[in-house]
Amino acid sequence: MKKIVVLTGAGISAESGLQTFRDGDGLWHNHRVEDVATPGAWERDPELVLEFYNQRRQQLFDAQPNPGHLALAKLESRFDVSIITQNVDDLHERAGSTHVLHLHGELKKVRSTVDPSLVYDLEGWELNMGDCCEKGSQLRPHIVWFGEAVPNIIPAVTMARSADIFLVVGTSLKVYPAAGLLEQVPDGVQKYLIDPNANPEYYVSNLHVIREKAGIGLPALVDELLKG
Ligand code: NAD
Repeated sequence: MKKIVVLTGAGISAESGLQTFRDGDGLWHNHRVEDVATPGAWERDPELVLEFYNQRRQQLFDAQPNPGHLALAKLESRFDVSIITQNVDDLHERAGSTHVLHLHGELKKVRSTVDPSLVYDLEGWELNMGDCCEKGSQLRPHIVWFGEAVPNIIPAVTMARSADIFLVVGTSLKVYPAAGLLEQVPDGVQKYLIDPNANPEYYVSNLHVIREKAGIGLPALVDELLKG
């Protein structure tokens, strides 16, 4: 079975109603990154950080996978598919994709502030001050904040290097180390980039750019790959 590796970003979830970070109406226009998504923000104002992620979680409960997520799940009927996502939502899993690696954490999980190996599924959408792990310390969002290490980049690089076909969907390719994954894919491998605002700077070898929304471009590409 041929191996398809997919790198996704906030754009694939935009048509599900989840805001991206850097588009005109994106999340960062209402919040400064330093105020809500850094270890310093957590030290200064944990209530604000919890509130920011509680809002994101609440929004996620109302969101559904869109035709882009569903198309990727359909690819598994003929290919060995691995998804590397920068998204913290669970829309790939809810669409039916079975191999999803989250680079930047998961909104519906929380973890201990004294022992990062203690990760829990959160019931509902709300995490508050005073919610503690089994060792008695405050729980925090299970999110990789700016300035923190990205441990899953190691398996992600291995996956990118082993791809027979590589897809990139809905990412501005501005956040490293995720943005560097495209360059890890061997030169001879066919690559596709689906993004209505794809930036021509990212021309690597064998790259086919599809300037469409994921909900339109992905189902069409998946049909083509399933027929081919
Ligand atoms: P980004 O906001 O930097 O870029 C989004 C990209 O998606 C842009 O290039 C934009 O042109 C494109 N886009 C917008 N609508 C699209 C559509 N309908 N179909 C396809 N592409 C579309 O997002 P990023 O590159 O993922 O930035 C990385 C950071 O954003 C990550 O750290 C990620 O964790 C975080 N993030 C995640 C979510 C989520 O989990 N849903 C939401 C917002 C941000």
